[in-house]
Amino acid sequence: MKAAAVILVLLSAITSRLSAHGPGKESDFAGRRVLFIGVDGCRADALQAAMERGLAPQLKGMCESEMGLFTRKFYAGGELGATTHQPTVSGPGWSSLLTGVWADQHGVTNNRFIGGRFQTYAHFMRRIKEVKPRAFCASFADWPPIHDFIADGSRLGDADFLDVKFTRTPDAARHFVDNPEKDIEVRDAALDTLSSGNPDVMFVYFGQVDEVGHGAIDSRASFSPDSSLYLNAISHVDSHIGELLRAMRARPQFKDENWLVLITTDHGGRGNSHGGDSEEERNIWLAAHGADLPREKLQQQPTPQTALVPMIYQHLGIQSRPEWTPAPPVAKKPEPTPSK
Ligand SMILES: [Zn+2]
Repeated sequence: MKAAAVILVLLSAITSRLSAHGPGKESDFAGRRVLFIGVDGCRADALQAAMERGLAPQLKGMCESEMGLFTRKFYAGGELGATTHQPTVSGPGWSSLLTGVWADQHGVTNNRFIGGRFQTYAHFMRRIKEVKPRAFCASFADWPPIHDFIADGSRLGDADFLDVKFTRTPDAARHFVDNPEKDIEVRDAALDTLSSGNPDVMFVYFGQVDEVGHGAIDSRASFSPDSSLYLNAISHVDSHIGELLRAMRARPQFKDENWLVLITTDHGGRGNSHGGDSEEERNIWLAAHGADLPREKLQQQPTPQTALVPMIYQHLGIQSRPEWTPAPPVAKKPEPTPSK
C-alpha cells in the first residue's frame, strides 16, 4: 500500500473511533447529554459542612463554576399531610428520583418494593427509549434494587432499555464493609463508558455514605455534620464524582456536547437512621451543572425530588406524555421501614 493510502486508512480509522467516542451534534439529542449521579443518604447540612471544610472540593468546584449550582431547597418524602407523603427511605426515594412521581403513583412505600407500579410509572430511561430507540442509556449501581426492581420492573417484556446495566452487591453479612470497594467498581465501570462509550444518559449510584451513616461499617459514625467518619465517606464519593467529571470533560467531542450534570441524594438522616419527617431527613440538596438550568427557580423555590426527571426530559428535548403519569389509582398510606 502506498503511503498516502495508508494515511487515508489511518485517518478514517481515527475518525470512526472519534465518532464512536461520541457523535456530538450528530446524536439524536443534538449533543445534549445527561450525567445523573446519586449519593445515597447524604444529609444536606453534612454535605455543606464537607464543602466548607475542604472535604468535597470536586462538588464545590463544580457548583461554584459559571454553569454550576448548589441548592438545599430540595426535598424528599412527598408533601406532608397529602397522599403523596412517603417515608424518607431509599425504595420510595430512588423510585421518585427515577420515575418523577411520588409513592401515590409509583406505589413503593418501603425497601421491599411490594406494590411497585413501574409498568405504568416507568423509569425515565424507558421513556427516553420509547421516544428515541437509538438513545444510549447506562446505569451503574451498588444497591441492587435500583436495577432489580425499578429498572427491571419498568421493562416491557424481555426487552431491556438499558444499554449498560452494571450492578454490584455489597456483602450484607459483612455489614456492608465492602461498600466503599463496590463504589470504586461502580465508578470504574462508569468511567469506562464515559471515556470509551457513547452515552446519551447515564445514572451512577454510590452507596457508602448511607451505610456509613447507619453505623453499619463503623458504629461510631452517624448521619451528622459532626461525624467525621460520615464526612469522610462524603469525601470519598466526592473524589469519585471528580473523576467522572474529568472523564466527561476529556471526551473527544466534549466541546460539541451539552452535558447536564445532576447530583443529588434520596434522603437525609438523623442519628443512625432515617425514614421520618424531620427536616434532617426531608431536606436534601441538588448539585448541578449545565447551560440551561432553571437556576433562579432552583435557588429560590422549594423543589421536590420528583422534579429531576422533567428537567432531564426538558434538557433532551423530550415532551412528557400524559399517559406516562396517569392519576394515582388509590390513595395509599405509607408504611415506614428502617435501613438504607
Ligand atoms: Zn437511601
